[in-house]
Amino acid sequence: MPSSIVLESLPGYAEIEKNLLGKLSAALDLPASQQPHWPDPAHVQSVRQFLSTLPPLAHPPETDRLRQHLAEVAQGRMLLLQGGDCAETFATSTGPHVRANVTTLHRMSAVLRGGTGLPVVGVGRIAGQYAKPRSAALDVLGLPAYRGDIVNSATPTPQERTPDPGRMVQAYFHARSTLETVRAVSAHPDEIYSSHEALLLTYEQALTRVVTTAGQPRLYGGSAHFLWIGERTRQLDGAHVAVAELLANPIGIKLGPGTTPAQAVEYVERLDRAGEPGRLTLITRMGRGRVRDLLPPIVERVTASGHQVVWQCDPMHGNTRTSANGYKTRHFDDIADEVAGFVEVHRALGTHPGGLHLEFTGDPVTECLGGSDGIGEHELAGCYETTCDPRLNARQSVELVRHSAELFAA
Ligand code: PEP
Ligand code: MN
Repeated sequence: MPSSIVLESLPGYAEIEKNLLGKLSAALDLPASQQPHWPDPAHVQSVRQFLSTLPPLAHPPETDRLRQHLAEVAQGRMLLLQGGDCAETFATSTGPHVRANVTTLHRMSAVLRGGTGLPVVGVGRIAGQYAKPRSAALDVLGLPAYRGDIVNSATPTPQERTPDPGRMVQAYFHARSTLETVRAVSAHPDEIYSSHEALLLTYEQALTRVVTTAGQPRLYGGSAHFLWIGERTRQLDGAHVAVAELLANPIGIKLGPGTTPAQAVEYVERLDRAGEPGRLTLITRMGRGRVRDLLPPIVERVTASGHQVVWQCDPMHGNTRTSANGYKTRHFDDIADEVAGFVEVHRALGTHPGGLHLEFTGDPVTECLGGSDGIGEHELAGCYETTCDPRLNARQSVELVRHSAELFAA
């Protein structure tokens, strides 16, 4: 098609656009778990309207580049390294914190690349990781649970915990300023892509755009390049899966120990309808004690389906425990062992262990136990800053990747 023709101006285009947006709104009508109870629906509506007029945070050509990289990962020629804070907060969306995380991700990528000889694509849990799923709607004080800075405040008062739609606008601008830092720190070609859990559907909907790429109008999630569905929102009859199915972005889905091989195949068929290598990343998080038993039948069934997915190991979320002195923590050795089990399973089945999904920060925190500094339970109090799950610090992160590189290279 000659480039002088603007597709958007052709007769019928409005119909196509309306059709795509109609499918999106039908998906959003399905039951959605983990959504806040906003006190004022009219305020939500006006925020959504405002956000829908703003430019996307992730530009479709960038998202398409990531798709190409992930196709390489799915076909065994590249690795995916993804990570960052469990929950970003507005207070820590500062230049120094973002720079520390991005610099650490670059260092980890270099170690992984050096140790395996494979190119590595880096994706941050960054510029949008502001919404958190919770196991209970109320906290121990009987207040609405903290659902991440995009919804309410961690401060335990009834007023601060009331979901505030205006926080979605703050989140957008914090994400935008975070991306400024990411771009400044990441010189091309070492582009770092953004990602977060696509949990808060009002925000995701407001940033979704109909965009024409390669002559085809498609829906692009504009809040990040890569979006994933969490372990708690992966219901096959729910809105999160249905929305993700419609997006052109690469999609991830967290698979915990309750996942059956049959479910895994359903996800792959729903979320990779076109059979595009790397379109879907299966992020397994089984726990060190179960990965060697639970992962093989899932990998076998998905491989037999013919879909070429990215297999990614999240060795964090299946290995969380509470220390004797009351801190939510994880031990470096458990994390390293789940990575080892993951790679062993893929080696045995002849599939490509595609990469890692980690919670880390470049800041010198003491949230996870172990590593070469030998952080013990009594050191946890020293610098425990996370508002959600415990993160590896810079030294532990690089150490984990160095150790993993030996396995991924073999
Ligand atoms: C997370 O990645 O922070 C998270 C909540 O993970 P999961 O959905 O795997 O529990
Ligand atoms: Mn987490």
